[in-house]
Amino acid sequence: MRYNPKTRRVEISVGELCPRKAGRDDSVADIPEADPKRLFELTGGVPRNVLFDISCGGVDFRVTGRAEAVSEVGGTIRVSGLYFSRENLSRLPDDRLLCLAYMLSRGGNSDASWQPVEIEALILNPDTGALERVVKQKTAAELEVVFMRRLTKKLGEAKVLAERARLVLPGAAAVRFPYPRLRQGQEAMMRTCYSAFCGGRRLFVQAPTGIGKTVSVLYPAVKFLGNGHCDKIFYLTAKTSTQAEAYRAAGLLFSAGARLRTLIITAKENCCLCRGIRAPDMPCMPGICPYADMPNEKMAAAVGRLLGLQSGFGPKAIIATAKEFGVCPYELSLELSEHCEIIVADYNYAFAPLVKLKRYFDNPEGAGRYIFLIDEAHNLADRTREMYSAELCSSDFAGLPGMASCEGSELHKALGEAAARLRGLRRLCRKDLTYDEAGLEHGFYIARELPEGLDSPFRDLCREIEPRLFKTGADPTTAGLAPLYRKLLRFLTVIDCFDESFLFFCRVEGKKTFVSIMCLDPSEILARQLDRIQAAVFFSATLTPLDYFSDILGGGEKSETLALASPFDITHLFVAAVDNISTRYEDREKSLPAIIAYIAAALSGRKGNYIAYFPSYEFMERAAAAFSAKYPRVEVLIQKKGMSREEKEAFLDAFRAEDSKMRVGFCVLGGSFSEGIDLPGSRLIGVIIVGVGMPGISNERNIMRDYYEQNQRPGFDYAYTYPGMNNVLQAAGRVIRSETDRGIVLLIDDRYATPKYAAMFPEHWRHIRHFTSPLALRAAVIDFWKG
Ligand code: SF4
Repeated sequence: MRYNPKTRRVEISVGELCPRKAGRDDSVADIPEADPKRLFELTGGVPRNVLFDISCGGVDFRVTGRAEAVSEVGGTIRVSGLYFSRENLSRLPDDRLLCLAYMLSRGGNSDASWQPVEIEALILNPDTGALERVVKQKTAAELEVVFMRRLTKKLGEAKVLAERARLVLPGAAAVRFPYPRLRQGQEAMMRTCYSAFCGGRRLFVQAPTGIGKTVSVLYPAVKFLGNGHCDKIFYLTAKTSTQAEAYRAAGLLFSAGARLRTLIITAKENCCLCRGIRAPDMPCMPGICPYADMPNEKMAAAVGRLLGLQSGFGPKAIIATAKEFGVCPYELSLELSEHCEIIVADYNYAFAPLVKLKRYFDNPEGAGRYIFLIDEAHNLADRTREMYSAELCSSDFAGLPGMASCEGSELHKALGEAAARLRGLRRLCRKDLTYDEAGLEHGFYIARELPEGLDSPFRDLCREIEPRLFKTGADPTTAGLAPLYRKLLRFLTVIDCFDESFLFFCRVEGKKTFVSIMCLDPSEILARQLDRIQAAVFFSATLTPLDYFSDILGGGEKSETLALASPFDITHLFVAAVDNISTRYEDREKSLPAIIAYIAAALSGRKGNYIAYFPSYEFMERAAAAFSAKYPRVEVLIQKKGMSREEKEAFLDAFRAEDSKMRVGFCVLGGSFSEGIDLPGSRLIGVIIVGVGMPGISNERNIMRDYYEQNQRPGFDYAYTYPGMNNVLQAAGRVIRSETDRGIVLLIDDRYATPKYAAMFPEHWRHIRHFTSPLALRAAVIDFWKG
């Protein structure tokens, strides 16, 4: 629902008038569900869009909808709908179809004369395939009752919306830039973003550190919204840490005149009030959580309280209000999002199949009036691959609590069949089986197609588990099934997306059998999602090469790119490459003494804090040991595998702003300390990057390489070179964080001397120097710090 300042009408779709949601949680599947293709086959009816203007309770509405199958016989309109259902036949056809029928019967105009209408519901039983046909004749008065009942329910909200739009939008359109001066590159970024929004394009912006990316995308987006061109801005992030920055920028724009509401959506796991009881992989079950089935009045009161108090909603305010009103904080944030214009959330809420906000992004009536601002977009490809990949293991089906007591039941039978299906897949690996010393089997099988009927036993099992988990007052012992249910749901959801850009992978490890569905290429998935919104800006300090990111992130024909220069004085950065050392796996041992010598040379110009990045933990640990042995007076800090949040913070805290100590952190390139950390000023004055950052060679990456080759792309570069260079650029970007910072970047690998790598260097590295001796490097570094 939105207020259109041009028509001065509240626009609402039939989907919004009659939501199909079966549960409050957006992850619960909708039932019943329509399928337009089947409808045409069964009825011969064709889709028709309908638009209906009506005044109600002092508000001018424009109701829009799309009837999927409309035919006309002898002056009577027949509107058909297809439903998948095993029950609830009495409530079909549903109000959605009745409202469409009403609008069609009035010819899209409340003053037009009535045309007779017939409503046909086709109900398909998904288990048996049986089709039932229900045809109902309705009078104009009967349909009007249904329609007006639905519209009246929205009246209060519509009044608030229209009033708020009249008060708020002009301020957002006229918002002033919240800083006294523009930084270099900021104006270009803002202008290009605004024009991309207007043109409905997908803009990819490489904006080096210091440009002020957050406000540079948010400012034009707010103006665009203020001018009535969109309803919501989704600021999407890869990490929680960047959400605070977006929230702060929205606050600055609020103070500068854009009185918009901003909300941070926090992951369920982080705001759940039942954290001690509900494990992260459990769905919300009424039998376990008292907030999983709370009355709507409580929720409305909690939303009302928050809206009356403030315009910015962070996790603290939401959790506190949820506790006070006894509602689920996560659900509260979803409800609140309906009243907010700027929504800051993780990528998951826009793209992940089980988590995305269906209320915004699964509207069957077409694209929503939303724009996406996608921060740190270099992470999105791998994150999407993760979201659309899933795995099941034979051990998931064994030793489930409470199963012994239900022997002989349908559930027990379905569980046995699913487990047998998984075990049966072992035979796919028989050609490549090997045996370890204990005589256990190991092997794998990879295919670009799914085995016939892979999903059916898992679907049957899901159907058996589902009612046990979600019925109110469910026996808490069934909670033991929850993790398996969650895994099955994810696996089946991913299977539904399977196409030529996916891979089926089965592996045997001793007694265990694993089956995985892997997404190789996220571009189509992302493009489909982007088609459901108006425009998007993907931005990051490192999107090199821009065309590669546009390709893998679904830019397609709507893509546009912008590369901005660094706003900082390039002479503040000493950037050098060592051209005569190979860091390839087979050469590492031999190259280690020379690498240590170059690290020492890089440090010799000034005491302070440095980080040396390595391609693997193993190599890093050997290098750290060799370095410490040779330079015992230098303080050495070493990244450990699986560090907790506290350990990571302590590691970074050790990089203190002082010059009296020589300190080197040994870290892994592509790990937690190579991006997303901010050590300004003298907390970090140099980085040494050993290698070209490529992901380790693996079956999966090789398959990805082959996939892209088959699709006329440079497969090796897509699977290895470009992701690697992105890691390098991210790590290098840790050094200069403000216009007063100075520091060094040293790249150690002979591949940096090749034209391919030189072409990927950013513009502010144009003064890069190449060295073949530690002594020459030492002299140059000393000169740099003197200068
Ligand atoms: S509070 Fe209850 S409903 Fe909300 S996330 Fe936690 S378990 Fe789910």
